[in-house]
Amino acid sequence: MSTDLTASKSSLDPSFFSHNPATGVEVARYPDSTKADVDLAVAKAKIASHSWQALGFRARRKVLLKWAKYLTDHIDEGAWWIYEETGKPESDAKLEFTLAIGHLGWAAKNASLILSEQRRSPGLLMANMSATVERLPYGVVGVIGPWNYPVFTPMGSIAYSLAAGNTVVFKPSEFTPGVGVWLTESFAKVSPLPNIFTVVTGQRDTGRFLTESAVDKISFTGSTRTAKKVAASCAERMTPVVLECGGKDAALVDHDADIKRAAENILWSGLSNAGQTCIGAERVYVHEKVADRFIEEITALAKQVKVGVHYGPATMPSQLKVIAEHIADAKAKGGTFKLGGPESVGEKYVQPVIITNLDESSRAIQEETFGPTLVINRVRDMKEAINLANGTNYGLGAAVWSRRNGENIASQLRSGMVSINSVISFAAVASVPFGGVKESGYGRIHGPEGLLEFTYPRSIVRARFQMPMGFTTFRRSRFADRLIIRLIKLLHGRSIG
Ligand code: NAD
Repeated sequence: MSTDLTASKSSLDPSFFSHNPATGVEVARYPDSTKADVDLAVAKAKIASHSWQALGFRARRKVLLKWAKYLTDHIDEGAWWIYEETGKPESDAKLEFTLAIGHLGWAAKNASLILSEQRRSPGLLMANMSATVERLPYGVVGVIGPWNYPVFTPMGSIAYSLAAGNTVVFKPSEFTPGVGVWLTESFAKVSPLPNIFTVVTGQRDTGRFLTESAVDKISFTGSTRTAKKVAASCAERMTPVVLECGGKDAALVDHDADIKRAAENILWSGLSNAGQTCIGAERVYVHEKVADRFIEEITALAKQVKVGVHYGPATMPSQLKVIAEHIADAKAKGGTFKLGGPESVGEKYVQPVIITNLDESSRAIQEETFGPTLVINRVRDMKEAINLANGTNYGLGAAVWSRRNGENIASQLRSGMVSINSVISFAAVASVPFGGVKESGYGRIHGPEGLLEFTYPRSIVRARFQMPMGFTTFRRSRFADRLIIRLIKLLHGRSIG
C-alpha cells in the first residue's frame, strides 16, 4: 500500500495541550496526530532510512556527536521543557539531560565496533565455506515514550536506534509533547538529512497508530498495562517490539551494610521525582539486626525532605488516586505508618510516606505505586529478603546494601539490573544493558545489547572452493553419505567425559 506523501487530512491543528502540573498553566498546544499523520511520518522516515543507512557508521557518529554537543550547549532550554511539563525540579531535569547525553555519546562512539561484520568458524564439515554475520538496521523504529523521564527513557531507544542506522518516529507521552518536539527540533539543527528523527504528537490513539503502521520495530516505554496492548497490536504485523515497563523495585539491606549511606540513598531512590521512577525503590527488606537503626535513620531523613523543592507534584493527576488507594489498603491491612498516612496525598503533591511491617499481599507491595512512599519490612536473613524481593510479578531493578555479601545476594535476584551499595547506578553506566524480566518487559536498551537490539543479524555463508563431492545435490553418492556419517561419528559419536 502506498502512502501519499503530500496530502493527508489532519490534525495539524493543535488540538491538545500540555500543562505544568504544579501551576495548572497551559504550556503549549500540539496536534493530536491521526492515523494518516502517523503513516505519513513513517513513510517519510522509511525513505530517509536508506540515506541514513548509506551514510555509514563514521558519518552517523559525527552527526550524533554534533547533536550531543548541541544538547549540552542548550541544556537549560531542554531542561525548561522537562520542568514545565513534568513539574520536576530544574536540577533534576538537568541531571536527566546529562545522563541522556552520556548515552547518546556512548551509542555514537561504539556502534561501529559492536555492529561491524563478524567472521565465524564454519566448522569441520563445512570447512570449504567462509561464514560472516552482518548486523543490519531494521529501517524505521517507532519509539513510544512515557512522561516521567521524557528525555532519558526514550533516548535509550532513540540514540541506540539512530547509531545502528535506523530512522526514528517518536511518539512522546501526551503529558510531555513539548519535550519530544524540542528534541526532534534540536536534532534537525545538526542533521544533514530530513526525516531521520521525527515526532508525532498525540494521545493514546496516536501511539496505537504507530504500532499499527509500517514501522519495522517498536520500542515502548510505559506501563505494563499498555505494554500488553502494544505487544498484541505489534503481533498483528509481526513487528518486533522492545517493552520497557513498570517495576516494583526492592532494596535489600543486610546487617553489615553502611546504614547511614543506605538510608540516604534508598530514600532518594524512593522519593525523588515524587516517586515516579520505574527503577526507584518502592520496597525495602532490612535485616532484623539493623532494622530499628535503619528505620530511625531513614524516617529522620524523610522528615527533612521539602516537598516542592526536593521533588515536584504528581505529573499525572490520576496517579494520586492509585497512591491514595495503596495507602488506604496498607492502613486496612495493619501496616505501621512511621511517617505520613492517608492525609499525605494532596491535590497535586504527595508528602513522604513510610510504612513498616506491612503484609506482603498488600497493594503497596505487589503493585507499582509510583508515589513518594516506601514500605520497609524486617527479615530474619537475606534468604528471606531475596525470596520476598522476587515475590512480585515485576522484575526490573533492585539494590543491595551489604559490605561483604553484595554479589552473592545480587546473583539470586530475578531482575534485569542490580546495583550494589548504590541506587539506580546501572542506568547511568552506558555500557550495560537496561531492561527487565517478567511483567517489567523484554528486550534491552543501552550498552552493546541496546545497539544489537535495533539491528537484525544476517548470515552470509560463501563457498570458498567446491568440494570434490557434493552433498546438496541429487547426485550425492553413497560414498558421500558414508563419509558424512563417519565424520559426524568422529566428531560427536565418542563417549563424553
Ligand atoms: P503509559 O503506558 O500510560 O503510556 C506510555 C506511552 O504509551 C504514552 O506515550 C501513551 O500515549 C502511549 N500509549 C497509551 N496507550 C497506547 C496504546 N494502546 N498503544 C500504543 N501506545 C499507547 O505509561 P506512562 O504513564 O506514560 O509512564 C509510566 C509508566 O512507565 C510506569 O509504569 C513506569 O514504571 C514505566 N516506565 C518504565 C521505564 C523502563 O525503562 N522500564 C522507564 C520509565 C517509565
